[in-house]
Amino acid sequence: MPGEVTDFIQDFHATNVPWDARGAPERGATLTRILVRISRGALQEAHLESILQGICECLVSELPVAIASVILLDQANTHFIQEVYAGEMTASPLAADGYWPVSRGLAGRCVRSGKPQLVTDVSLDPDYVAGNSRARSEYLVPIRHGHRLHGVLNLESERTDFFTDETTAVFDAVADLVAGAIHFARMAGELQQANRRLEELSMIDGLTGIGNRRRFDRQLQEEWARMARQRRPLALLVIDADMFKALNDACGHLYGDECLRELARLCAGFAVERMGLAARFGGEELVLLLPGHDLVAATQVAENLRAAVASRGLLHPQSPVANHVTVSVGVAAWVPDIARPPERLIACADRALYAAKLEGRNRVQAQAEE
Ligand code: GH3
Ligand code: MG
Ligand code: MG
Repeated sequence: MPGEVTDFIQDFHATNVPWDARGAPERGATLTRILVRISRGALQEAHLESILQGICECLVSELPVAIASVILLDQANTHFIQEVYAGEMTASPLAADGYWPVSRGLAGRCVRSGKPQLVTDVSLDPDYVAGNSRARSEYLVPIRHGHRLHGVLNLESERTDFFTDETTAVFDAVADLVAGAIHFARMAGELQQANRRLEELSMIDGLTGIGNRRRFDRQLQEEWARMARQRRPLALLVIDADMFKALNDACGHLYGDECLRELARLCAGFAVERMGLAARFGGEELVLLLPGHDLVAATQVAENLRAAVASRGLLHPQSPVANHVTVSVGVAAWVPDIARPPERLIACADRALYAAKLEGRNRVQAQAEE
């Protein structure tokens, strides 16, 4: 799981020997060690920002670099939108208004040209924007993964002779590692989003667009526990379309489907007004879960719903009850006991529904807890 701190890079202990005083083999060994550390760090499953921060700190702590930063581009590649940096930043062009157009600065030039920019004396370059007054030279590398440009790796040194073929080759490789880290993090984010969307879709009924049985089961568990904690009643309405088989036989399944969608829409309206959930329990049976409603309040809601369905006047030429579609509703409600299963509420509302059917349909029947 993503963590906050990238200690794989931060436990890096810089040597106290100045860059000047080191021989070529020592410098080479330092550069190799930095690459090893950064290549490990870039593959960690941490937050992207802390990975980039760790990389910048690794570079600043070991090398004569006043500022190391990763400057990230927007999707359109027209503006820099974020800068992660280590070192002493006395002024950031990004901080001024939050956006930094690629028409400006050396970083902008790096993006526009798509090539690394080596500036051995910043005082002579008109595009240079000072970030640290001690910086004398600067090296910038595009951070690219495939065709996608993510931003720029920027290094500013207090020395004019620091950026050599040897050091810039290492920074080019670091930019590639950063590109990989950014790509990996963005892919992980997109995957997470797609998974969330799939999870949502898996709980929607395809025909009616309201919650499906899975959604209802999950919500019932949650509300059962929540109402038990709050010592408030939980109500369940089981709504069954009357003589629906006869309707299908007379008018066809497509018309039956249309009626089911309309019933679902009416139920969803009642649910929204009362912070409840409307779902399709299965076939032509819908459910309405109403937290905080006792048996009296829930029975009143059921009666209003029954009346709303009747007055909708959906044609049902074969119904012995009325010439339009009607529903029977079973109601159950009580303060849940967390030690008992919530399925008891379903069983109780089901019994009430059965009684409503026996008594002639197009009616509401309530059943107290047994
Ligand atoms: P009752 O009043 O006793 O509930 O009678 P009923 O005909 O509604 O009950 P029964 O259980 O005998 O039949 C249910 C019918 O609901 C049969 C089935 O074809 C229909 N049905 C179930 N799911 C769908 C659906 O998705 N679309 C359509 N059009 N019909 C469905
Ligand atoms: Mg039915
Ligand atoms: Mg049924």
